[in-house]
Amino acid sequence: MLCKIGDIEVWRILEMNVPILTPEDLWPNAESDVREVVERHAPGSIDAATGGLILPVQGFLLKTSQHIVLVDACVGNHKTNRLPAWHMKSDNRFMSALTAAGVGPEDIDYVLCTHLHTDHAGWNTQLVDGRWVPTFPNARYLMPAEDNELYRELGGAPYVESVAPVVEAGQAEMVTPGHMLGDHITLIPTPGHTPGHASILIRHSGAEAVITGDALHSTVQCWRPEWEFIYDEDGKTAVASRKQLLGDAVEAGWKVLGSHFKLPSVGRVKAEGDAFRWEED
Ligand SMILES: [Zn+2]
Repeated sequence: MLCKIGDIEVWRILEMNVPILTPEDLWPNAESDVREVVERHAPGSIDAATGGLILPVQGFLLKTSQHIVLVDACVGNHKTNRLPAWHMKSDNRFMSALTAAGVGPEDIDYVLCTHLHTDHAGWNTQLVDGRWVPTFPNARYLMPAEDNELYRELGGAPYVESVAPVVEAGQAEMVTPGHMLGDHITLIPTPGHTPGHASILIRHSGAEAVITGDALHSTVQCWRPEWEFIYDEDGKTAVASRKQLLGDAVEAGWKVLGSHFKLPSVGRVKAEGDAFRWEED
């Protein structure tokens, strides 16, 4: 188990932990010493061999007294992807992590996608006899309505492979920020990375934690929230959401689970000057 929020168990479902693009490529509007700033505020997150930022891809499994909830469904197998490390991969890491958490695909009550990018919706479906079918047969899939509208219109392999089959199976429920799943899980709006992007607030017995999704990608963005990530759909809005989320995390004292943060990805945010500082748990 990764941690407990009150009585809610949180399990890490780690699928990958490999370098992708370089910091310069990932944050095109960062200052020229981006690499040094990353080393200072996210130490050890740059891969020495490739110069790429190591970006874990993970979901979080929540076991509440009411439901078993998977927050984000990672990359998946056999999926079309623009990043080579993610493209058409086939391995059992995601499923093994679920097994280690004591659940099988049929046990999941809800799949909650923070947004509908390929590394958060991939295991929504799997390829069976040449057809994409929902991986979790008994789950309701909660997806941001605005993301669904945008990506349905754009079409493209990620939507066709990982979202449309869930809609066609009647298992999808399009939701908007503020939506509550049971008594302890709330979607809070953090638009910008995608239009419907939501971070996930978990509350139980006075304990509170937030799963960032892609409102941030690295702990360095606590210090530099104004850095726009290359895959932000609307960089300016993402910056505003990031600052709001960081400010709220400080004010409320939330535990923070950074979806793509360097492992162990769990800590807290402190205010420092005009920005924020990351403190690992
Ligand atoms: Zn992501």
